[in-house]
Amino acid sequence: MIKDNIAKARERVKKACLEVGRIHAAVTIIAVSKNRSVEEIKEAITCGVTDIGENKVQEALKKYYELRVTDYGLRNIKWHMIGHLQTNKVKEAVKIFDLIHSVDSLRLAVEINKAAAKINKVQDVLIEVKTSPEEAKYGLNPDKITGILQEILQLRNVRVKGLMTIAALVDNPEQARPYFRMLRELRDKINQPLVLSMGMTDDFQVAVEEGADMVRIGRGIFSRQ
Ligand SMILES: *Cc1c(COP(=O)(O)O)cnc(C)c1O
Repeated sequence: MIKDNIAKARERVKKACLEVGRIHAAVTIIAVSKNRSVEEIKEAITCGVTDIGENKVQEALKKYYELRVTDYGLRNIKWHMIGHLQTNKVKEAVKIFDLIHSVDSLRLAVEINKAAAKINKVQDVLIEVKTSPEEAKYGLNPDKITGILQEILQLRNVRVKGLMTIAALVDNPEQARPYFRMLRELRDKINQPLVLSMGMTDDFQVAVEEGADMVRIGRGIFSRQ
């Protein structure tokens, strides 16, 4: 099942890219494995998944270390923190995550910088943007982004790689398009080579059409479709 799901997800990414003339190999599929077992993650990796997304630090740590002591530990898997990150979890998070998608305050960035400096790491992060202010719980208002970017650029152990958003829940994926477009336009306005993390199981095709560089797929990979 996981194998077929991954093949289908790849096919849909390809189709979306063809639609708008993008190169599909440039889109990273992140398999969101929250609430899934290490066995399921192994299966996804066997099927070619290279990027794993988790939304809770404790759960991710457990799975990360469990996988590391198996043959899978030798593979170059990238771990993505996609959930809200509390400052008291930052120290653990910087140990295992290659990319933290959910920086939504300067305070959090400062904490990440401190923790990363202690282990001589430059932590890659994305800034989470609230593209649907009335619905999103976390994320910064679009008009705050350039200000916070200027501040984060001063932090030596944090590197901003891009922007992330969670689109509002909608009935039809087309209705999510404006949120994705808003994130892309924000990036274009900032005029820096920033990647976009957007799109989930129900709407990732639209997100790719709107320029997503990373899509975060949970149910679409691990659940029966
Ligand atoms: C759970 C989650 C996803 C994946 O959701 P699906 O609808 O299962 O694809 C993506 N992004 C974030 C931030 C999540 O928490």
